[in-house]
Amino acid sequence: MSKSKIIITGGCGYIGSHTAVALQQAGFEVVIIDNLINSQENVLTRISEITGFKPQFEKVDCTNPISMKDIFAKNNDAVGVIHFAALKAVGESVAQPIKYYKNNINSLLNVLESMIEFKIPNLVFSSSACVYGEPEKLPVTEQTPLQPATSPYGATKVMGENIIKDTIRAHPELNATLLRYFNPIGAHPSGKIGELPNGIPNNLMPYITQTAAGIRDKLSIFGNDYSTPDGYCIRDYIDVNDVADAHIAAIQYMIKNKPGIETFNLGTGRGLSVIELIKAFESANNIKLNYIIAERRPGDVPELWANANLANQKLGWKAKRSLEDTLKSAWQWQKNVSDLK
Ligand code: NAD
Ligand code: UDP
Repeated sequence: MSKSKIIITGGCGYIGSHTAVALQQAGFEVVIIDNLINSQENVLTRISEITGFKPQFEKVDCTNPISMKDIFAKNNDAVGVIHFAALKAVGESVAQPIKYYKNNINSLLNVLESMIEFKIPNLVFSSSACVYGEPEKLPVTEQTPLQPATSPYGATKVMGENIIKDTIRAHPELNATLLRYFNPIGAHPSGKIGELPNGIPNNLMPYITQTAAGIRDKLSIFGNDYSTPDGYCIRDYIDVNDVADAHIAAIQYMIKNKPGIETFNLGTGRGLSVIELIKAFESANNIKLNYIIAERRPGDVPELWANANLANQKLGWKAKRSLEDTLKSAWQWQKNVSDLK
């Protein structure tokens, strides 16, 4: 029997590469489209070392409608598309909004047009917890009202969700699952793939591991005077492999149920403060981190964590990796990357 085929845009990136591995291990055939603007082609070799299969790879920019149609025409037997490709640096999006709107919105429009033209019925879209802004009540459920985006990057996620909703309404033959990721961290247990930020990391976890590795002198904690129990910001940190698994559950759910549109939070349901995460990292890896308390970072919400019960009820998915294992995998990956340099 031939394998069901999934097209993954942005499949060489952090979450996409873990999802490609999980899909191949679940018996799917994977086609990756990536322009490598924030990733490297050698990820494909790593994927094949883990799974035994090298995915089909198309080095293409998703904003190019002609190339996208060519690839979709060649792969019109695909059962679904997972659309990860996007630019994701919040600060850069404030400085260069047009670059972000052009890349993230045009890529999505091309994916949708090609899906319609070549009758590929199922889409998974990478959305983000940032669509909730600063919510009035925690944890957030999928029913929690969305707040205006605080950055052009966030706006591309809110717009992306709306574009997909309108498209599904007009094309009942399509299904889509909007996955709102909370804070994905960690790496594959093989140590072969993980997060590879360009330059100085924006996110907390790679900053922690780079500080532990001596690449950065010290970690700056952005504020300890928030109105949270210990004064530090709270987030829902989820293992990237758990996030990857949810994509398979979403694809299988759409194939089976043809649900139209569904939205799910992908979190653990556990809020951790910045200092709690740092202490957990230190204790999981037996490391002492050098950190200082710095000014608040503009745009940070004090606290955000998920109620992820809906994904459990409908998809049968829940986050299952332990925080300790996740933090060990993050450190193992950092050491592997440092050894490569
Ligand atoms: P990433 O940067 O590691 O991966 C994105 C991939 O898309 C990269 O390989 C990049 O080269 C590719 N890409 C970008 N624009 C492209 C284009 N126009 N054409 C082809 N390829 C393109 O990011 P990630 O952390 O893996 O994030 C994946 C998705 O999840 C993104 O949509 C991101 O906005 C979303 N997301 C990420 C997080 C997070 O914390 N990592 C949280 C919420 C949502
Ligand atoms: N953070 C920090 N120092 C850093 C990076 C992040 O204290 O160098 C804090 C940030 O203020 C937030 C949390 O860590 O409270 C998570 O930030 P990240 O950028 O990883 O994710 P976000 O939730 O903002 O998307």
